[in-house]
Amino acid sequence: MGRYQLRCLQCNRIISDHYTLRCHDDALLRTEYQERKLIIKDLPGIWKFSEWLPVSGSMEIGDAPITYKSEGIARELGLHNLYISFSGYLPERGAFIRTCSFKELEAPATFQRSIEHDKKTLVIPSAGNTARAFAQIASKAGFPLVIVIPTSDLFRLWITNDPSDSIRVIAVDGDYYDAIMLGDRIGQMNGFQSEGGARNVARRDGMGVVMLDSVLSMKRLPEHYFQAIGSGTGGIAAYEASLRLIGDGRFGNHIPRLHLAQDSVFAPIFNAWSRNRSKIIPEDVPDKSRIKEMYTDILSNRNPPYSLRGGVADALASASGLVYAIGNEEACDAKRLFEDSEGVDILRPAAIAVAALCRAVDNNNVDSGDTILLNITGGGLSRVKEDYTLNHLDADVVVTDGNIDEVMEVL
Ligand SMILES: [Zn+2]
Repeated sequence: MGRYQLRCLQCNRIISDHYTLRCHDDALLRTEYQERKLIIKDLPGIWKFSEWLPVSGSMEIGDAPITYKSEGIARELGLHNLYISFSGYLPERGAFIRTCSFKELEAPATFQRSIEHDKKTLVIPSAGNTARAFAQIASKAGFPLVIVIPTSDLFRLWITNDPSDSIRVIAVDGDYYDAIMLGDRIGQMNGFQSEGGARNVARRDGMGVVMLDSVLSMKRLPEHYFQAIGSGTGGIAAYEASLRLIGDGRFGNHIPRLHLAQDSVFAPIFNAWSRNRSKIIPEDVPDKSRIKEMYTDILSNRNPPYSLRGGVADALASASGLVYAIGNEEACDAKRLFEDSEGVDILRPAAIAVAALCRAVDNNNVDSGDTILLNITGGGLSRVKEDYTLNHLDADVVVTDGNIDEVMEVL
């Protein structure tokens, strides 16, 4: 075998990678790496973990998250072993992700995987943070990229690099799911490749770097892992990285308990999981008109990879998972608590994760001595604004009625 292979979690077949996104429709593929030990390579950023990324080479760009032991919010919550994984901009601690989101862990690995296989133009649907991360990497390296984004999320589409001619922005008058649907159509056209979302192992293994980086600080797997989710792909990624670390043997043999948090206004995964459903049914999914009531619409996804083999429900089941539905006020309080005690601003999705941790402490879902990893998936925006100019990307075309003809003209 090469450095890695893909396994279909439905039929168990081993597949060699050609930027392959599926074998069976109702199952994810999972990467299996030849190297069973966590190897730290002498490469910058995320590439030090490249033995466990589905790529052969590496590139210059790709900043890593940092992990540090909390003193501030840990004291507030009475926790003795709380670690924070921070994907954002916090230079004094060595965090340099300038788009302030852990989506920047996914983009370089995805581009590298794409380059090594088909060199087509990647098409990425996004509610904003993912588009920003992919645009940041594409603009730096001149990679061709098509972004499909709801018009209402365009304000999140900025980069600190100079904009590049290689990027096209297609705005959709609709929600994130509408953007995903249009992105799929473009991705099937000649010369284009749908990035793949949860089906893209480079995205999941890229996000898995959070867990890999954390064990370097903790010297063990955490007992609990907290993260805010929309699609839940980050939860799957944390789970899969944990399986690899258990396979290594040096970090313990217990899967960290997944504590995943949704915005209570729009919480299909919470609704399905708390009612013991293996599938999301229509009544679990609020009408998209409710999205504007959310604390953060970044976490809205009407069709998360929940019931797929190897998807969110399977990860939750294997990891004794808990799902939280966090209200607006709870999230606001958690954001303030974190920012006051840790001294760095965080993005709203991260505040949802902090709120879940606060609730878990109140409900005794965690003990004060437990080793806990809190994934702060985005932060440091106020510092980035001080240090850099934010270059906003405009839409090349706005699609109002799903009419793809207008799109063709700008591609
Ligand atoms: Zn299969």
